[in-house]
Amino acid sequence: VLPQKSIEEVSEDVQKWASQKKDEIELLKANEQFRKEFLMNLAHELRTPIFSVQGYVDTLLGGALSDPNVNIKFLSNASKSIDRLVRLVDDLDEISKLESGKIPLIQEAFSIQELIKEVYEELLFKAKDKHINLLMKKGTERPLFVYADKQKIKQVLVNLVDNAIKYGNEKGSVIAGCYEVDEKNVYIEISDDGPGIAEEHMPRIFERFYRADRSRARAIGGTGLGLAIVKHIVEAHGQTVTARSKPGVGSSFGFTLDTATT
Ligand code: ADP
Repeated sequence: VLPQKSIEEVSEDVQKWASQKKDEIELLKANEQFRKEFLMNLAHELRTPIFSVQGYVDTLLGGALSDPNVNIKFLSNASKSIDRLVRLVDDLDEISKLESGKIPLIQEAFSIQELIKEVYEELLFKAKDKHINLLMKKGTERPLFVYADKQKIKQVLVNLVDNAIKYGNEKGSVIAGCYEVDEKNVYIEISDDGPGIAEEHMPRIFERFYRADRSRARAIGGTGLGLAIVKHIVEAHGQTVTARSKPGVGSSFGFTLDTATT
């Protein structure tokens, strides 16, 4: 027969159990709060473009359809709102797949500079619209081979370069730099000379739906999911992503990847 626990020991056990339960309850509460906020944000993000389409369609049906001065403009505005909805749904699909952890990484060795060039080519038309130069940092052109999921890293680069163009100044520059941190890691950084992000927003920019300057961000377009997707993909690789910014000077987003071993 085991010796019985002393009153002190039993009381210690009970206290431990109670504090563990308290932690579990706090975690559940935080999750519940997060879920509520997520749904509220989602409803809000969906409502805006839906209301806009509804407004244009109702106005057209109300007589504007026969007015050649406005009908095409209203249809094109409705179409833009539908594009935004499609993007939002695509991003949500992407993020829920990433969060479910169901999609495995398909890793291979590839040159990160080549992938950046591919992304630059795809986004060239957007950059040209704002007369923005897409550049490679001098001295970092030597190809560095990484071992990662190429398609997903392409998505990371597209989101970062797209943001740099979207929020960047007219006639500004976007610069991509690739550095060998040590034998195991490569560091990739996308920098812009845009308006930057105020310090108070920095801790939250990787959260889903978080947008630093809501009214400006809305006018610029986007879903507020781009950086959340970036963070997910980079962390799925066991790596980290960081952001630096100075208002009036610019922003830099950097992440690490495994070096490919030959
Ligand atoms: P979205 O661009 O769709 O709003 P993101 O998750 O990609 O969503 O970015 C979140 C927010 O971070 C943006 O709304 C913007 O306020 C800020 N941000 C991201 N990248 C930049 C950048 N390069 N320069 C300035 N602000 C940025």
